[in-house]
Amino acid sequence: MDNNNVWRKDFPILDQKVNDEDLVYLDNAATTQKPKDVMSKVANFYYSDYANVHRGVHTLAERSTEQFEAAREKVRKFINANSDKEVIFTKGATNSLNLVAQSYGEENIHEGDEIVISYMEHHSNLIPWQQLALRKKATLKYIELTDDGQLDMDDAQRKITDKTKIVSIAQSSNVLGVINPVKELAQIAHSHDAVMVVDGAQSVPNMPVDVTDLDCDFFAFSGHKMMAETGIGVLYGKQELLEQMPPVEFGGEMIEFVKKFDSSWNELPWKFEAGTPNIAGAISLGYAIDYLESVGLDNIQKNTQAIVDHVLPKLLDIDDLEVYGPKDPANHTGVISFNLKGLHPHDLATGLDMEGVAVRAGHHCAQPLMEYLGLSATARASFYLYNTISDADRLVEAIKATKEFFKNGTV
Ligand code: PMP
Repeated sequence: MDNNNVWRKDFPILDQKVNDEDLVYLDNAATTQKPKDVMSKVANFYYSDYANVHRGVHTLAERSTEQFEAAREKVRKFINANSDKEVIFTKGATNSLNLVAQSYGEENIHEGDEIVISYMEHHSNLIPWQQLALRKKATLKYIELTDDGQLDMDDAQRKITDKTKIVSIAQSSNVLGVINPVKELAQIAHSHDAVMVVDGAQSVPNMPVDVTDLDCDFFAFSGHKMMAETGIGVLYGKQELLEQMPPVEFGGEMIEFVKKFDSSWNELPWKFEAGTPNIAGAISLGYAIDYLESVGLDNIQKNTQAIVDHVLPKLLDIDDLEVYGPKDPANHTGVISFNLKGLHPHDLATGLDMEGVAVRAGHHCAQPLMEYLGLSATARASFYLYNTISDADRLVEAIKATKEFFKNGTV
């Protein structure tokens, strides 16, 4: 049913053998592959139009600036922000979240305040808040998870109080494959006058996101997880908040006037974009958005859902394979973490690589989650639009082969 995946041909990297087997790339939560179209358009930009942005009056500088700002407008539309002023180009989700902690957090968090995150956060949405809390003598609180790895919303109601100033939660987990109700969390946060920060690194590539509808105050994501280059990401923030926030980096581009002993800042969004930006990266993000829109996020969701519906029961059926996160395939983002009893996940991932199947193994930058689950690491398969049901079957077969290999090897 699957093998008419029409998008796969756009990703030439997938067409190769690894360890004499056809490559099956299932490490998409770490980073996604790039379509030919995006790569060739970025190459054309370098061939024909590249120059530094904003400063020049010459033709290439104007062309480059036009394309850079056009990419910002594509991002604005894609996430339905109200204005281009609300779309700040950053290095990635990590950089975006640090910016909020260092600017909004530094100004607004005081001794005794509370910051609420959850046990399923990536380190990027944990350490900036942990360190802010330490600096300010504030308290960091963790929302618990239910037995099947969902956010415990009753606990969220308990943990978010009038002392809470910031709630920061991933819209989608990079380990458990769950989608969190961030719109509901934003309502709870706002009812206590707290701001809502959303880590959208795993959601934006996989599902339609409307920041206006979510009514979140800040939203962070990375280009490389949605088929653009590395080193480019976005921080969305509500204009009225961004206007009040101080810049955290100083230098070119972000100033209005500089005098010997004082300076004033450029308007949004450039106030937060010190120095020469990642011009081609931003442009690649614009082209990746064009590609995503031509595919349709609903089609990406359907493809992933069909794969998860097919593969999750098969994985649950393998003796000695422990699967973490929801066992119900409904509403799943296509990230599945698992362990084979008696085998270190790195050995499992190496075994799968021998079969041509690329998965990740480790703590997935979520050590407090691993501790919460009583684990040190897991193997993780993550699917994207170019994956097929036969890729999923190859994963199942490779796990079985690895299990046999190690069983025989240790007898
Ligand atoms: N949050 C989540 C949920 C992620 O999966 C990741 C990337 N693994 C990040 C944040 C950080 O993204 P980046 O490394 O691109 O800054």
